[in-house]
Amino acid sequence: MTRYDVIVVGAGVAGSLVAHHLGGRGRRVLVLEAGAAGDGEPAPGLPYRAHPAAPWPEAADLVGTDGPPGFRAGGHLLQDGPLPYASGYVRVNGGTGNVWTGLAPRMLPEDFDTESFGYGRRWPFTYDDLEPHYRAAERELGVAADADEQRERVGLPLPDDYVFPMRPLPAARLDRLFAARLDGRRVKDPVALGDVELRVVGTPHARNGVPDPRYDGGRGYVPRGRDGRPDPGSRCVGNATCIPHCPSYAKYTPLKTQGRWSDSVTLRDRSVVSRVLVDGRGRATGVEYRSYDGEVSVAHADVVVLAAHAVENARLLLLSGLAGRSGQVGRNLMDHPVLLTWGLLPQDTGPYRGPGSVSGFEGFRAGPGRRLRAPFRIEFGTWGWIWAKGPVDTDVNHFLTERGLFGRELREAVGDRIRRQFTLQFEMEQGADPANRVSLHPTERDALGLPRPLVTYDLDEHVKEGMAAARAVSEQIFALLGAEDHTDYAPVAAWPGRFEHRGRTYGYRGAGHAAGTHIMGDSPATSVVDAWQRCWDHPGLYAVGCGSMPSVATSNPTLTMAALALRSAERVEADLAARDRPVPLDSPSAPPIPSTASSPPGASA
Ligand SMILES: Cc1cc2nc3c(=O)[nH]c(=O)nc-3n(C[C@H](O)[C@H](O)[C@H](O)COP(=O)(O)OP(=O)(O)OC[C@H]3O[C@@H](n4cnc5c(N)ncnc54)[C@H](O)[C@@H]3O)c2cc1C
Ligand code: SF4
Repeated sequence: MTRYDVIVVGAGVAGSLVAHHLGGRGRRVLVLEAGAAGDGEPAPGLPYRAHPAAPWPEAADLVGTDGPPGFRAGGHLLQDGPLPYASGYVRVNGGTGNVWTGLAPRMLPEDFDTESFGYGRRWPFTYDDLEPHYRAAERELGVAADADEQRERVGLPLPDDYVFPMRPLPAARLDRLFAARLDGRRVKDPVALGDVELRVVGTPHARNGVPDPRYDGGRGYVPRGRDGRPDPGSRCVGNATCIPHCPSYAKYTPLKTQGRWSDSVTLRDRSVVSRVLVDGRGRATGVEYRSYDGEVSVAHADVVVLAAHAVENARLLLLSGLAGRSGQVGRNLMDHPVLLTWGLLPQDTGPYRGPGSVSGFEGFRAGPGRRLRAPFRIEFGTWGWIWAKGPVDTDVNHFLTERGLFGRELREAVGDRIRRQFTLQFEMEQGADPANRVSLHPTERDALGLPRPLVTYDLDEHVKEGMAAARAVSEQIFALLGAEDHTDYAPVAAWPGRFEHRGRTYGYRGAGHAAGTHIMGDSPATSVVDAWQRCWDHPGLYAVGCGSMPSVATSNPTLTMAALALRSAERVEADLAARDRPVPLDSPSAPPIPSTASSPPGASA
C-alpha cells in the first residue's frame, strides 16, 4: 500500500490549495474527495447532482410552514433549533467553490477581536500576522479590486505599494445609479444611534478582470482560464450565471487550482472519508474511506488535513470521536444571516448583466456601533429579485395568474418589472455561540450508514438588532432613491427563516458561509484547533476551512479561509521538512524531530 506524506480530505477551495502548495514541494499527497470528478450530471438549476452516498443540503430540503416552528428541514441536514440554518454546500469535486458567487473581500483588523466589542471570540493572531497570506490568497484566487478604494473607503491597511492582481471590475449600471443618487448622503442607524455616510464601493472579486501591469513589482499578472491554464484574454463578460457556473471560466473555482497540481498529487474521487485513524498516542496515521458501493478502504500518511467544509469537518471529527477535549467540536456554528430587501426603481437598473453583486456599502462594518447591534455589509443585488422571490418565471406567473395578462401586455408588464428590479443584501456578522451547533443525529443515517448531521441554530438579540438597523437603513435608502419597496416576508414555503422582533416581522436567508465548527483559539481547553489549524490533541491532524474561524466578521469568508489554508500548508511543509532532516549517525544524542507545537509569530499560545 502506498504511504503518503499527506492525506487531504475534500477537494474544495481549502483542500485544493493545500494540495497544490504541498504537491509543488514534491510531497506525495492523496486527495480523497466524496463527490464525483468530471462527470456531474445536470440537475434543474444546478449542473451537479448529489449521489445518495455523498448527499448535501439542497434548496428544496428547507421550507417555511404556517404553524410553529415555522420551518421543516428534510434532506441531508436535519434541524431541531428554534430557527433554521438556511445555508447549503455542495459535495462534488471542487466543492462549494464551484457554485460560489466569487466575492473576495478581506476582514478588517478590528474583526480579529470582537471580544473588545462585547461579543464573539478573539483570534489567536492579528490581521497583520495574516496579511502576507491574504496577498498569497489574492494571487491564487486572482482577485480584481481597487487597492486605493479598499484603503480609503474600507479602512484596510494595505501596504502602500500593493495593488491587486487585476483592476476592479467595471461598475454595474445599478452601482452608477446608486453612486449618483446616494454618495455622500447620510442615513440614521436607529440602533447604534448614529448616522453613516453612504459611499458606493467596489467589492473585491475572484473573477478575471483586466490585469494590473503594476502587480508584483511591475511583473504583472496573467489571468487563469479553464482548468487554471494561463489565459491572458480571460475576462468576466457578464453572463450573469456565476451561480451555479461561469461558462467563460472567469470566476475562480478550485478546479483552476487542481489544474496546476503537480504529478505528486493524486485525486481519488467518489471516496467518502468516514473516520480519521490515530495511534495509541492520538497521532493521526490515516483515514478510513468508503466507495459509493460501500467498500471500505484505508490510506495512511504522516499528516491528515480535513478540508471537507465546516459542517462535514465537524461531522468527521465527531464520527471519529476525536478532538473532544474542549467540548467545542461542532459548536459555534456561524453564518451570515442575510436580511434581503427588494424594490423597483423608477428607471432601468440593468439587471442580469454581470455578477450577482458588483459593489456595496461598507460603512456599517466597523466602529463602536457593533457593541449595540451586529455589523453588516450591504451588497447591491443585480440579478433582479431572483434571490428574494425566485427566477424570472415568478414574475411571469404573477402577471399571468394574478393579473390575467397575456400576449403583448404580458410581455410588456414582465419587461417593465424586471428591468427596474434590484435588491439590497444586508449580511450580518453572527458571533460564535456554543449553542449553535452541528451534532450527529442519533438515529438517521445516510446511504453509507453514517449518522447524518443535525443542526441546532438560532439568531441572538445582537443579530436581530442588526437586522432592525438594516431594515431602517433600507427604508431610508429606498426613500432617497424614490424606489417602490416590495419587501414582504410572507409566511410561505420560500421563507423558512422568519422571526418577530420588537413587533416587526423579519425574514432572512443564509449566505452559505458556514464557519466556527472546529473553532481556533489559544487554549486546548476552549478551542479545537490552534493558530495553525492543528487539532490540539492529535499531532499530524489539521482541520482547515471556515470551521476554524473564531469570528466570521462581515466579509464573505472564503478569501480569509484561503489565506488560512495557505498559512497552514506552510506549517505542514515545515513539519514534514523537520521530519526529513537527516539525523547525524555519529552523534549518540541525535536531536529529536522538532516538535510541531511551536507558535506562529503573534500567536499567544
Ligand atoms: C451559493 C453560495 C455562494 C457563495 N458565495 C460566496 C462568495 O461570494 N464569497 C465567499 O467568500 N464565499 C461564498 N460562499 C461560501 C464558499 O463557497 C465557501 O466558503 C467555500 O466554498 C468553502 O470551501 P471549503 O473548501 O471549506 O469547502 P467546500 O468548497 O464545500 O469543499 C469541501 C469538499 O470536501 C468534500 N467532502 C465533504 N465531505 C467529505 C468526506 N466525508 N470525504 C471526502 N470529501 C468530502 C466535498 O465534496 C467538497 O468537495 C458561497 C457559498 C454558497 C453556497
Ligand atoms: S458574470 Fe458571467 S462571465 Fe462574469 S463571472 Fe459571472 S458567469 Fe462568469
